[in-house]
Amino acid sequence: MNTIDRYAVFGQPINHSKSPRIHSLFAEQTGQSMQYVAQEVSSAAFDTTVKRFFDENGKGLNCTVPLKELAWQYADSLTERARQAKAVNTLSRQADGSILGDNTDGIGLVNDLTLNHPLNLAGKRILILGAGGASRGIIAPLLALLPDQITIANRTISKAEAMILEFADLGCLQSTDYAKLTGQSFDLIINATSASLSGELPPLPPNLLATAGSCYDLAYANQPTAFVRWGHAQNALHSLDGLGMLVEQAAQAFFVWRGILPHTAPIIALLDSERKAN
Ligand code: NDP
Repeated sequence: MNTIDRYAVFGQPINHSKSPRIHSLFAEQTGQSMQYVAQEVSSAAFDTTVKRFFDENGKGLNCTVPLKELAWQYADSLTERARQAKAVNTLSRQADGSILGDNTDGIGLVNDLTLNHPLNLAGKRILILGAGGASRGIIAPLLALLPDQITIANRTISKAEAMILEFADLGCLQSTDYAKLTGQSFDLIINATSASLSGELPPLPPNLLATAGSCYDLAYANQPTAFVRWGHAQNALHSLDGLGMLVEQAAQAFFVWRGILPHTAPIIALLDSERKAN
């Protein structure tokens, strides 16, 4: 019988996932004996595949596109941050056999922004582009940093409007469509759209980034994304992609499962140097 603790990431597509590599580096660094694999799982097969994984003694799962909402529905109980996000990226089997859903995306972004770079966002004006699942996961953790305000711009304005109503109790939020961004400026612009995945850029007016402001694309790639290039062209202080967030959210999931928080800086540096060599 296989007694090694088993973990996996489910998603579709999944073949380019860096998560198995990140978790094996964490396991090596912290001396943990565990296995972590990537498995292609469709939305239709989600419930049965997750049930089988945990029935066969699997310890924990990460869920990525397009499964985070299904994982949120699947969990028997939720952490507060997963409840707020209405999306789950980390499932854990508890001692009583029940499944706990968590969301480590928001803390992953916040840790990358505030610890690795480090940006002080108190009193700052933040613009989030996009009102999908990733946006939903980062709003509450960003509001906890006490920015002056967060504006959410989305192509489908009704989704941004609904989102600000949902999080209104937590801080100062506004919604807008892209056309109304003209004349405004922000200290931090976060691209939480999936436009980068197809090499596209949301329609952004000139002078949107304040002097010494920074840009952050949640998407990541071996080459700078269209949004990262846009940030450089605006003379951003930092124009970053989501590699740091990816490693930070993975570290928090590792902590949830193993009770040990790995050192992320050497892993981010290693993955960054590997992609630059490609
Ligand atoms: P969703 O599909 O839930 O949402 C996509 C959003 O992008 C929607 O707001 C959509 O607008 C908008 N959008 C898509 N294409 C365009 C376009 N061409 N122009 C303008 N807006 C567009 O995706 P997620 O929220 O789950 O993911 C968003 C991004 O975040 C992805 O790139 C994903 O890889 C990344 N991500 C990175 C993580 C990390 O650890 N680094 C973690 C989680 C996500 P509309 O509503 O109008 O359709």
